Amino acid sequence: MTTKTQLLVIGAGPGGYAAAFYAADKGLNVTLIDKSPNPGGTCLYRGCIPSKAYLHVTKILSEAKEAEKFGVTFEEPKIDIEKIRAFKDSVVTKLTKGLGQLTKARKINYIQGEASFVDKNTVKVVKEDGSEENIGFDNAIIATGSRPMVVSPFDQKTKGVIYSCKAIALPDVPKKMLVVGAGYIGLELGSVYQALGSEVTVVEMMDSVIPGADRDLAQVLQRQIKKKFKNMLFKTKVAEVKEEGDGVKAVLEKEDGTKTEEVYDKVFVSVGRRPYTEGLGLENIGVKLDAKGFIPTTSSLMTHHSSLYAIGDVVGNPMLAHKASHEARVAVDNIMGEDSKFAPKAIPAVIFTDPEVAWCGVTENEAKEKGLDFEVVKFPWLASGRALSLGRTEGMTKLIIDKSSEKILGVGIVGVHAGDLISEGVLAVEMGLKASDLAKCIHPHPTLSETLMEAADLFYGHCAHLFKPKRNV
Ligand code: FAD
Repeated sequence: MTTKTQLLVIGAGPGGYAAAFYAADKGLNVTLIDKSPNPGGTCLYRGCIPSKAYLHVTKILSEAKEAEKFGVTFEEPKIDIEKIRAFKDSVVTKLTKGLGQLTKARKINYIQGEASFVDKNTVKVVKEDGSEENIGFDNAIIATGSRPMVVSPFDQKTKGVIYSCKAIALPDVPKKMLVVGAGYIGLELGSVYQALGSEVTVVEMMDSVIPGADRDLAQVLQRQIKKKFKNMLFKTKVAEVKEEGDGVKAVLEKEDGTKTEEVYDKVFVSVGRRPYTEGLGLENIGVKLDAKGFIPTTSSLMTHHSSLYAIGDVVGNPMLAHKASHEARVAVDNIMGEDSKFAPKAIPAVIFTDPEVAWCGVTENEAKEKGLDFEVVKFPWLASGRALSLGRTEGMTKLIIDKSSEKILGVGIVGVHAGDLISEGVLAVEMGLKASDLAKCIHPHPTLSETLMEAADLFYGHCAHLFKPKRNV
């Protein structure tokens, strides 16, 4: 028997559930399918949320240690891994159950199961209990997300080699851990394990952490976390891994070919993520993937079938939850008959390490590559009263400004709470604000948000807390 729905959404991560909720709010009859009992996807079950719950705990540990500088000493902390894990689980459960209730309240037909296309207007769902149901639809959105990339020499069978799904479960705190890849997932979870007691070594093929970020921002983070990690090895790759006793022997190879080997209790591989399309039956509807395995779409997020849209990690980078949720609205608006395009000027990226790194819009590297006529202004947090009072002056706020129009093209921040501060940058870039717009807005004192205003002031040469004469506004 085939049931019918107006909109069918496959995958209930931040792309899929945002699409389903928005479409239901707009009056469509919606069916949402996911393998989990409640919506949430990678982000809520195995990604953004659990990692931030852990990072909150580890922040308390590092702040307690930092307090020594200010004359407050705590006893050596006692760490109860089970309780930390339970805290993480409670956060995940509250959020995912909450989404389940919101799904019901919107009268969305939520089905727990695995969906695959039978033809371009029908999917088959294999449910948890093994039963099957065919569902016909007017429109469908594919939001099946991504999975960790498995690259040579790692495979999923080597005991002791783990990926983010396992790392986030916090099965134990290994004595010695090798983190492969200095991207945000490796650094965030590596920081968690380090703070809980692991001796962490990070190995990265490139010459710096966070290869996508501007070097000056990444360097501030690198300097800080280097103090915590046992070792950070750049321009180095893992050539071989082999089980050895209860651990894993890793052969590390530098750019010049020299090799060293060491045994670790766990090797955490975080070298990127790949789109997840297996088992979707795309071959049955003639959808061909691009060279990297993403589902190609137009800027309206439509695939080559006009009734079929795709959003989130499965359509391309940046693989971020907020990008997926934004695309969800674009796809639904198009399904509702509007002409909506996914064309943001600023998708914020945040690394929730200590310090945090955040940026949006055009990076300095991109501005150079594009040959833009731009100027960079940097406000060092050493000159921020708030940063001084927090004892965290290593930060920096930088603006990339178009020289002739004075519009803010990009914003980069490194420092505590950079992730919260970047939203003002997103607003500025997306709305095409000039540096003078930021400079003229009264920012609350004393806050780190003032560093955005002061950076804009710096562009005109009259920044109160730094002296750099220049032009007038
Ligand atoms: P997903 O969230 O991956 O959801 C896809 C869903 O589809 C899954 O539930 C999957 O089981 C389901 N599915 C797949 N195939 C089928 C099928 N055939 N039938 C039924 N269901 C199916 N992003 C941020 O923005 N901020 C962060 O701080 C952040 N931290 C992260 C930390 C970690 C450790 C990881 C791994 C990721 C993190 N991300 C973060 C990335 C973020 O999780 C993803 O970008 C986001 O979840 C993508 O959303 P999505 O809806 O495209 O897919």
